[in-house]
Amino acid sequence: MKLTKELTVKPGTAAKIKHRDPSDTPGFRDKTEAEATLEKNIKRLADLQFRLYAEQKRAVLVVLQGIDAAGKDGTIRHVMSGLNPQSCKVTAFKAPSAEERAHHFLWRIQKAVPAKGEIGIFNRSHYEDVLVVRVHDLAPKPVWSARFEQINAFEKLLDDNDVTVVKFFLLISKDEQKQRLEARLQDPDKNWKFTPSDLAERKLWGDYMEAFEDALTKCSTPWAPWHVIPANKKWFRNLAVSQILVETLEKMDPRFPKPVFDPAKLVIE
Ligand code: AMP
Ligand code: MG
Repeated sequence: MKLTKELTVKPGTAAKIKHRDPSDTPGFRDKTEAEATLEKNIKRLADLQFRLYAEQKRAVLVVLQGIDAAGKDGTIRHVMSGLNPQSCKVTAFKAPSAEERAHHFLWRIQKAVPAKGEIGIFNRSHYEDVLVVRVHDLAPKPVWSARFEQINAFEKLLDDNDVTVVKFFLLISKDEQKQRLEARLQDPDKNWKFTPSDLAERKLWGDYMEAFEDALTKCSTPWAPWHVIPANKKWFRNLAVSQILVETLEKMDPRFPKPVFDPAKLVIE
């Protein structure tokens, strides 16, 4: 089964995140069954990344979004564990600085776009400007609602310039979030991940889901589709993200460049 097809929000259709099951594991029964595939995917990703780097012509931009505790950091830690840091760049987007706020919302994003040969990973992204900004009224509605089209145009520009954009929305249930936040409170090694504001944010769950639904529906395009990853089960989340990345890179089919010399005719003395 091609997970890319299974989990993509078909452009022009509603994402319907409410109707998707966050515990779903399409194509796999359990963790043990998935382990070998995940391992294979991580190796394959490393190989494809190496070719992309050698080719020096195109880039891949991975966008990770999801509510607090959805598993954005965990996905990066697990799925990207086989990547060569030399051509991989992770950017985590926090609340914008004064300088960033003085520019338009895509300014800081553009600066973080991966160069040719690189895989760039966005832990949060320009989508925060239609998510948290909308939920907290940080900009008036006419401002944030104009951004869907601006985002689509921006991502089209990237695609036209050989940056393949792959977007993942990690879908967890409200109950799963509760358990994960509780673990952050109870486990001293996880305390650092907890912010008291996480509780206030959790109260806005419904508003966030509405904002996600809109963003995923309006910004899943043929050139930069959204994938909804059922993420209650971490093993499936890792498997699905790795598999979709492999499928995306295989479709790109990066090649080692042909030498500009004839290796058979050269002798190293
Ligand atoms: P974390 O990912 O847990 O480190 O938290 C980062 C915080 O930065 C989250 O609360 C985001 O909502 C916030 N953030 C990211 N981008 C923006 C933005 N454009 N405007 C306001 N807050 C943002
Ligand atoms: Mg947080």
